Amino acid sequence: MRKSWLVCVVVVYFMAGWMDSVQAGSWIVEKGQPRAEIVIAERPARTVRLAAAELQEYIQKISGARLPIVTQPSGKAIKLYVGRSPYTDQLGVTAEGLKYGAYRLVSGDDWMVFLGEDTEFVPREPWPRSHASIASGQLQKAWEALAGGPWGVPNATMWKDRHQIPATVGLPDAAPRPGKNEYFELWAYDERGSYNAVCGFLHKLGVRWLLPGELGEIVPRMDSIPLPKIDETVRPDFEIRQFSFHGPWEWAQWAMRLGARYPYGLQTAHGMVRLARPEIFAAHPDWFAMYGGKRRFDPESQKNHFCYSNEELFREMVRYVRAQFDVYEFEGVSVMPPDAYISICQCPLCAGKDDPQRGPRGVLSNHVWDFVNRVAKEVAKTHPGKLIYCCAYGSYSLPPTNIDKLEPNVQVLLVGGRRPKSGVAQQAEIRAFRESWLPKTQRPLMIFENYPLTGRGWYLPCFMARTIGRSINESKGISRGEEIWISPHQKLDGAAAFDAFQVYFTARMYWGGKEQDVAALLDEYCRLLYGPAAEQMKAFFDYCELHWQDMERDKQKAETALRLFEEAKAKLDPSSIEARRLALLDKFLDGLRTKSKQLGQKRGVVPKLRLVGEAKGIVIDGRLDEPFWKTINLGSVGRLRELQTGRPPALGTTVMAGWYGNNLYFGIRCQEVPGEKPNVTTRKHDDPAIWYGDVVEILLETNMHSYYQIAVNAAGAVADLDRAVSKDSALNWDSRAEVATEVAEDHWTIEIRIPVTDDENDPLHMVVGRPPTQSLPWYVNICRQRVRHNGMEHSAFSPT
Ligand SMILES: [Zn+2]
Repeated sequence: MRKSWLVCVVVVYFMAGWMDSVQAGSWIVEKGQPRAEIVIAERPARTVRLAAAELQEYIQKISGARLPIVTQPSGKAIKLYVGRSPYTDQLGVTAEGLKYGAYRLVSGDDWMVFLGEDTEFVPREPWPRSHASIASGQLQKAWEALAGGPWGVPNATMWKDRHQIPATVGLPDAAPRPGKNEYFELWAYDERGSYNAVCGFLHKLGVRWLLPGELGEIVPRMDSIPLPKIDETVRPDFEIRQFSFHGPWEWAQWAMRLGARYPYGLQTAHGMVRLARPEIFAAHPDWFAMYGGKRRFDPESQKNHFCYSNEELFREMVRYVRAQFDVYEFEGVSVMPPDAYISICQCPLCAGKDDPQRGPRGVLSNHVWDFVNRVAKEVAKTHPGKLIYCCAYGSYSLPPTNIDKLEPNVQVLLVGGRRPKSGVAQQAEIRAFRESWLPKTQRPLMIFENYPLTGRGWYLPCFMARTIGRSINESKGISRGEEIWISPHQKLDGAAAFDAFQVYFTARMYWGGKEQDVAALLDEYCRLLYGPAAEQMKAFFDYCELHWQDMERDKQKAETALRLFEEAKAKLDPSSIEARRLALLDKFLDGLRTKSKQLGQKRGVVPKLRLVGEAKGIVIDGRLDEPFWKTINLGSVGRLRELQTGRPPALGTTVMAGWYGNNLYFGIRCQEVPGEKPNVTTRKHDDPAIWYGDVVEILLETNMHSYYQIAVNAAGAVADLDRAVSKDSALNWDSRAEVATEVAEDHWTIEIRIPVTDDENDPLHMVVGRPPTQSLPWYVNICRQRVRHNGMEHSAFSPT
């Protein structure tokens, strides 16, 4: 009963705005009956087919009526012209001046036009058809042949921006049906003005895409849809509206519906990394930075730095940039140092060119921007109109003081120019950073923003809708637009739902002008997505926006946020769609719950094991002879102490720890009396007899589960227990650990790989946890028991 009442409200609400602008007697749908047809050209741009399909699908979802797609009007129905066709030409409605995805909605007595610029991107050769052409080196070879140098190919990730669309999508009703496995291809770089026009119209009807996929879709129900009287041109506030997820179609489609735009070949960051190649280092070591008297290059690293004082490097960079323009016709090319460029080359030419007095954000500004500016000036001689990009980032974030005005073809990108993953209080400083760059360039800025990366363990409830909205409004008019770095899971899980919140408010703020009202957007978001819990969710989001930064240390604030969320949950019928949406964020908040629990535990000072580097290449054979163990960071090594006294025991035990993929590794070395063998009391799995002999126990409290116990003896026998469940069933858990041991003359060793999953659906197997981070660590203890005829000795990493 309650539900149908809600639907009525929705209908009244959305109809009200339309009534005064309805054409008398003109209906797109009338009482559930189709009164219009979708008209596209004989050979429409591929994005127009997508647009026609969206219009057809959603009109049907709203009203139940299916509008046919035709290429010639039947004369018996209202005509909805999608994209350019001879009919729109006759009407004199064109896409002229509609740049960057802008669109027009225009109607007459018996027609309506949905129009913008629609282009089909044609890739320049050579381009990667798949990852295989990159891995095989084919692409690199083809590029080098055209470019004339050994530089890295600049378009290696382009294949991710191609999408396959089923050939039936947006096909006219009368066209022959294609086979099931036929597709047409779409590039993210295609202009989609008419598609935006359709989405804009559906938005007016009340359709919302609040999360990727159907769960986040809001579709009003209407029996009748009037043909509106309309003449509107809608322009985006930025030409660049790019998110870093190009791959998963559900997300790509969602971003398209929200009006994102991906310009072709946008090189946002670290372009010079492709110059750091082994063959270039071999021929020209002096182009690379000198540290400790040596020119440095590591083929495995993305962080090889250059000597920006070297004239040959400068000329090579100019050649490389020109080659990229000639082969690929990019708008701009990145001339930005590889990541983590924090200390200047120590050669005599570079000496004194850093400015330590400007602090860590300005120490290399003059040095880097001078190089970029010189490359830009030189390239402009042959390629006027082309741009040189560099980010204000890291040690060259602050504007240079040795350049009054950058060359007109230098495109500055600010990293952290909005930064909603800083708190509300930091926004004034971020605004000042934005403004500090304005006097240095005649061009509008661009913004490269790292949003919270859930893929790297982000768990804090940084729901900063208002901050996102305000900072975007403030950058309207001074910025060309943004690339937002965010990497959602393909599956719509808790982390992805959090990511989706960031994307939704960001994308919506890219339109609507300076007046775009984020508070109203947030109200609507809560109302449409969470229904009866709207008010409570609003209170939760508002509280998080102000206090999330403190929740890493302040248990009370974390608890308050969790309590507000519980209040929202209590408002919902668990079987409702609103509850299903809420369940996603509920899952995301598990990280905060763990943190809150950790903050509540009084542990005193505990010894720490840091996981440094990747524990690659470890073979579980009991011998701790792999390079990772041999060169291990001392922070990853611990020693056991006597349990009672805390003193070093007579027979020492050393623990080394490492992480790789989803595996935790330990290498444990137990010193023994020379000639004396360890006391082995079982060779079987899960045999409690193991505790009658010598044993090493690993106790693991992860950031999702407390706690696991894995006992290993010198024969490699394992007993593994989940200590969170009753004693009777503790042994039912299986760690699936891979273990090998080796017994030597005066010691024995354990090498163990413990696989870890963050999937809680199978509590009987494997350690459940997210990779440990500094903020959400794991608590580990290692204990050794040594049993001899005269008694037992116990030692532990953290004696308690
Ligand atoms: Zn140098």
